Amino acid sequence: MQETVLLVEDDDSIAEMLGQVFEKAGYRFRHCASGEEALTRVKTRPPSVVLLDIGLPGIDGLEACRQIRQISQLPIIMLTARDTEIDKVVGLEIGADDYVTKPFSPRELVARVKAVLRRSTETSTGRKVVEVEGWIIDLDRHHVRFGDGLPVTPTAKEFDLLWSLAENAGLVLSRAQLLEAVWGYDYFGETRTVDVHVRQIRKKLDGIPIETVWGVGYRLGAS
Ligand code: CA
Repeated sequence: MQETVLLVEDDDSIAEMLGQVFEKAGYRFRHCASGEEALTRVKTRPPSVVLLDIGLPGIDGLEACRQIRQISQLPIIMLTARDTEIDKVVGLEIGADDYVTKPFSPRELVARVKAVLRRSTETSTGRKVVEVEGWIIDLDRHHVRFGDGLPVTPTAKEFDLLWSLAENAGLVLSRAQLLEAVWGYDYFGETRTVDVHVRQIRKKLDGIPIETVWGVGYRLGAS
């Protein structure tokens, strides 16, 4: 089945360029120029993935992302123009799956789209659960709970990070290994991205045994 990419961007030249790139890569490409329109599309004819620019007329991309998350779990990649925007995407609870900074290479963006689509297929077909010191990390349901407690659903990235640690429970993973595992080989993000996500996980899952191994990285569960 052909997958649909919805670009939300008010800059027509970027839209035209990406339209050609994605169609050539075998995707169906749709474009709209505002967050309000994007929400309507997601409700009526949901795409496979949304590429969401932050600087938009009307509601901005961050707000659009929050609103889409209230109605849908489809993958969202933010397009950011400035470092201050990256901090917002990474630090706020908007629920984006990934982000790229402008100017981006079209090839990199296509690779990111492939990666988020692959991940969303894997998680919907995988049936795996890992238990670490009473914490149950459920890949199938994409949630985490302690014992018989209520399940908590972290953002997609937070979950991927936790899952990497859970699969290697008791072992120390470096920030670089985690970046590679969660954001992909061609990800040029900084290691602070990992720290920000770990902080969010600890906040949401109070008492989760993620240990900071100074100068090395992180470990889930006792060694
Ligand atoms: Ca824009």
